[in-house]
Amino acid sequence: MDSIDTKGFDVFSRYYNTINGKPTSTKEVRQGINPATAQPNPDVPVSTPQDVEDAVAAGKAAFKKWASTPYVERKKAILAFADGIEQHLHDFAKLLSKEQGKPIQFAVGEVHSAIDCLRSTTKFELQEEVVTEDDEKKTILRHTPLGVAVGIVPWNFPISLACGKIAPAVLTGNVIIIKPSPFTPYCGLKLVELAQRFFPPGVIQVLSGDDNLGPWLTAHPGPDKISFTGSTATGKKVMESAAKTLKRVTLELGGKDPAIICKDVDIEAVAPKIATLAFLNSGQICIAIKRIYVHSSIYEEFRAAMIKFAQTLKVGPGNEDGVFMGPIQNAMQFEKVKTFFADIEKEQWNVALGGGNGTCVDNAKQGGYFITPTIIDRPADDSRIVTEEPFGPIVPLMTWSDEADVIERANNTHLGLGASVWSNDLDQASRIARQLDAGSVWVNTHLEIDMAAAFGGHKQSGIGHECGIGGLKAYCNTQTLYLKKPKAAL
Ligand code: NAD
Repeated sequence: MDSIDTKGFDVFSRYYNTINGKPTSTKEVRQGINPATAQPNPDVPVSTPQDVEDAVAAGKAAFKKWASTPYVERKKAILAFADGIEQHLHDFAKLLSKEQGKPIQFAVGEVHSAIDCLRSTTKFELQEEVVTEDDEKKTILRHTPLGVAVGIVPWNFPISLACGKIAPAVLTGNVIIIKPSPFTPYCGLKLVELAQRFFPPGVIQVLSGDDNLGPWLTAHPGPDKISFTGSTATGKKVMESAAKTLKRVTLELGGKDPAIICKDVDIEAVAPKIATLAFLNSGQICIAIKRIYVHSSIYEEFRAAMIKFAQTLKVGPGNEDGVFMGPIQNAMQFEKVKTFFADIEKEQWNVALGGGNGTCVDNAKQGGYFITPTIIDRPADDSRIVTEEPFGPIVPLMTWSDEADVIERANNTHLGLGASVWSNDLDQASRIARQLDAGSVWVNTHLEIDMAAAFGGHKQSGIGHECGIGGLKAYCNTQTLYLKKPKAAL
């Protein structure tokens, strides 16, 4: 239901760009598609090059004041913004489910994590550091904001990933222009519209558009930093474009996370967790489990337990009770995931669960992009399902028996985002974990991010990282200030 709050915040009906503190419309509009029904959601702006010019100019002007606004004021604004989102938690969650497809309970979870990200980022502050001091001189290390940042956001977590860019950018004195995915523009637009209550004009802006908008922003000489989350292929284009003006980049890219299951695990407890971490958000998570290596001595029992649990996972529209897996977010991704199902027959893969053409017939009849959770039983190590990121609910299950061999197979990929080891023997688990080449390595869990730590990818999973104190430094230049004491300078 549409609602307008007491301060005139129009929660659901109309969607604007926000440029220099003002809601702005565009001549051309487009619509995102509700993936559960394939019906269009409301109109959103299609930004023009002039909108980019205006937003960059407003950002540059706002930066001058915001950079010198005291840290405590910036922190206060972020905390007030977090409270503001919380007041609209259920409106945002409903909107998120309608545009992204995820079940409402997970949409509520994502809004909570967005709020948590804003709040937890404010626990950090970059202090000046005296690195050398003697009678003659003092050398100080400082972190100064870059200027105008652009936050490019994908469609799998449109609200929490936008907040993950906004918080460190504005806390460190930068301004930011958010560019949501054309598939999921709605929450990003509303988030930034709401932010205007708490921040001066031009500090947080948002532009929605078509596929031209991202390249316009990365190529524009005005922005100083691009924080990009999305696919590895697009990340390379972003870096290439940003290189022309040497913009700083943070790239959070694709993953092909392995989970290594040792022989001593409690199968009944672990198998459901592994299935959950592979199929959550319909497999559309950068750090979902995407390759499962089970010790050969427990393989059959583990596979049976995983199938038994995965069969209970309900697929359906996000607003239906008890649904665990919503639709694939968009038609393009739906078709891409289905190519892995087409490979089942071509490559003669054994199917432990699901399969067919991948489509959930009942739900697909409604026009939505639903896919059956599917487990491929022991495909070859060089098959596409083991080497590529489907970004959908289809996962390979494989065996291992030699520790060194499984480590090598887990590392045998150009990606290195996350990985996990599951064992009751913490010595063995930690020995294996320390040899895995990934930005986040978990023991007996996966996907649990600590906002105080660094989050980022090795190899082609990214450059730089977000979260924690390093996440703030990613929005700053370092400056070394050399102070010669007056007496010594004589
Ligand atoms: P994508 O790369 O297609 O799009 C991401 C964003 O980039 C969108 O806003 C898109 O409009 C924009 N974009 C597209 N082409 C561009 C260009 N040439 N220049 C600038 N911007 C451009 O990714 P997606 O399909 O939206 O997201 C799925 C991918 O994102 C998966 O590979 C997933 O693993 C990855 N991902 C990574 C993380 C992480 O933190 N490492 C988190 C979520 C998703």
